Amino acid sequence: MPNAIIALGANLGDPVEALKAAVVDLEGSDGVAVKSVSPFYTTSPVESSGPDYVNAVALVETTLTPMALLKVCQTIELAHGRVRPQGVINAPRTLDLDVIDYEGVTSDAPVLTLPHPRMHERLFVLVPLADICPDWQMTNGQSIEETIKKVKKRHPDQKIFTLSSKSMA
Ligand code: ADP
Ligand code: MG
Repeated sequence: MPNAIIALGANLGDPVEALKAAVVDLEGSDGVAVKSVSPFYTTSPVESSGPDYVNAVALVETTLTPMALLKVCQTIELAHGRVRPQGVINAPRTLDLDVIDYEGVTSDAPVLTLPHPRMHERLFVLVPLADICPDWQMTNGQSIEETIKKVKKRHPDQKIFTLSSKSMA
């Protein structure tokens, strides 16, 4: 059965509750089984605004197509009050579920680009992904750990803390 990585994020309302509920909803969706969920992290907004985010990633097994999996993610976002203000890119959100990778499938369709085109630059995806899939194959051939090191150097503004301890990840 294909494996997929879903990134979860929120910075409005009660982000921790939203992420927990999203995991329950993913698990309850036909054709989706959640295999593991990373620890939760607090992160500073990247190309976004508003309060800090809570982020995590989930590894799922699915019988759905990539597009059907995206639709499931969007339905869950809507069920948790997601609104998309017209014309505002990366607006603060109650819940965001992005498909980061689907069994290595590549797609440059704007409606579903795979792997997620900005994952290589985002610690809030890479750090939790390294927790649950340390051997995940990056499309550029680098290890996740190598990529994390480079992004930390290049973007010292991207703060990421484990949620419980507030210690730097
Ligand atoms: P963000 O890019 O900040 O997550 P949205 O969640 O509003 O913003 O998504 C904007 C659009 O990105 C969606 O309409 C969706 O079709 C598209 N999209 C393209 N690739 C992906 C992907 N891999 N995962 C989730 N959405 C994607
Ligand atoms: Mg999204």
